[in-house]
Amino acid sequence: MADVEIPEIVERSRSASRDAERGEQDVVDTGTAQTTDATVDPADGATAEDAAAAEAAAAAAEAPAPDAPAEPAPAEEDASDRIADVTLPPTTDPGTTPLRAALDRVKEAAEVVSGTADQKRAEAAAAQAAAEAAAQAAAQAAAEEAARVAAEKEAQRAAWKVSLQGYANGRIPDEALCGVSFDGNARLRCDAAEALEALNAAFAAHFGRPLYVTDSYRSYGAQVACRANKGGLCAAPGTSNHGWGLAVDLAGGVQGFGTAEHQWMRENAASFQWVHPAWAQAGGSKPEPWHWEYVG
Ligand SMILES: [Zn+2]
Repeated sequence: MADVEIPEIVERSRSASRDAERGEQDVVDTGTAQTTDATVDPADGATAEDAAAAEAAAAAAEAPAPDAPAEPAPAEEDASDRIADVTLPPTTDPGTTPLRAALDRVKEAAEVVSGTADQKRAEAAAAQAAAEAAAQAAAQAAAEEAARVAAEKEAQRAAWKVSLQGYANGRIPDEALCGVSFDGNARLRCDAAEALEALNAAFAAHFGRPLYVTDSYRSYGAQVACRANKGGLCAAPGTSNHGWGLAVDLAGGVQGFGTAEHQWMRENAASFQWVHPAWAQAGGSKPEPWHWEYVG
């Protein structure tokens, strides 16, 4: 539009100067100027009209926009308060009676809604308190169960310790003894077997292989045979701790003084109530590096 207006101004300046010079040609010059204007103005005018129309359209489009979202916005928060504040102008017109009654009903409904929200909040708080109480009860139940299991195990061990008191050395039936998971032949008093299981787990964790048991419970007959075959290396029949299911003879390295396995046993077995008796140690009366006894 700027490049159109500039010729117009120039044209009008020219016609003005021509007016001053030759007054009688006013009509012609004006006509020329008007003609010139006429060639410019229609376009100019049309553009102005378009702009005006566009502005009006934009205004029309924008006008409802601010109001539109305003309707749902003031919804919930203090709706009941605003409803409670609503009053009708004082009048004696009986025609307003239904309207007043309707307003009262709306106010009552708003109070109900407000009361319901309070009730929901109270219910949520109660549910949370109940959940916390349930979690606390579950934790307490778990602790009680753990304590019950521990007490049960302790009672079991106590029962195992006296379980063979009715038998003579080397006269214990197989069903009164217990085995271990890592050796199919080992037979021991059950609490000794349980402790050897734990000792073996620690040994295997260190050496990557289980304990190697060559002898455990030894019957009276076996003790007699042992004494006959090995002499003083075997206890007098009826006196060996093997006859109570409380001793093992080990190989796999443990059977030699000074080996890593034997040294590990010396340092760790006592934690599992398994010991190397003094008489069996290197300086003992009858050195037997392989012989270990349960003292739990
Ligand atoms: Zn032995």
